[in-house]
Amino acid sequence: MDEIKQLRVKVAQCCRMLEYVGLIDFSGHVSARIPGTNQVLINSWGAPRCTLTPDDIVKVDLDGNFLEGNGPAPTETPIHLAIYRERPDVLSVAHLHPPVTTALFIAQKEFIPVIYHGSIFARGVPVHDDSRHINTAEKATRLAKALGDARVVIIRGHGCAVATESVESCFFASIYLEDNAEKLTRAYQMGSPKGLPPEEIEAGYAGIWKENQFQKVWNYFLLKTGLNF
Ligand SMILES: [Zn+2]
Repeated sequence: MDEIKQLRVKVAQCCRMLEYVGLIDFSGHVSARIPGTNQVLINSWGAPRCTLTPDDIVKVDLDGNFLEGNGPAPTETPIHLAIYRERPDVLSVAHLHPPVTTALFIAQKEFIPVIYHGSIFARGVPVHDDSRHINTAEKATRLAKALGDARVVIIRGHGCAVATESVESCFFASIYLEDNAEKLTRAYQMGSPKGLPPEEIEAGYAGIWKENQFQKVWNYFLLKTGLNF
């Protein structure tokens, strides 16, 4: 399989798996930058997220031009393009509507790592303090600036954008963002959550963010969902 075809398959699998676990509803999206180009693959606006296949992945460029596929691209595609423009290290972006993470920030509760894998967000979870759709380059640039060099930026009252160096790591970060938020939220309901001590956060930040970790989670969900296209 050629590289672009393979990337198209991965974007479709990631979108389907994120929909399966409830992090993308009927309108979230996943993209990947084609390495070494200004081109991006993203699921189309109209394809139902619960049934989409590699044929529903379209190609756009960083200026927002539609290049190929069964379009159009999602109206919030500017989120992806602005992050790719600001962050050359980022090769994959997911725009999620994660229920618990979103609620946690609506409640204005502090997001702290409380599970070991939550330490991947130890460098901070910034917030874009505007719930409206991000459908212009100008709004998206503001979001990308808020993201800075973090792995996720929260869009208050709306969702978030996860930005990492591969589709698999983007899926991994998405899963553990919501997992940490779920356990943290339950802990807030019961009392005062105990965050990880600094040495555990340091160990986790350096030790968890690895290719074999991404692959383990990716392969588990591929098998669970039967999405080997
Ligand atoms: Zn959205």
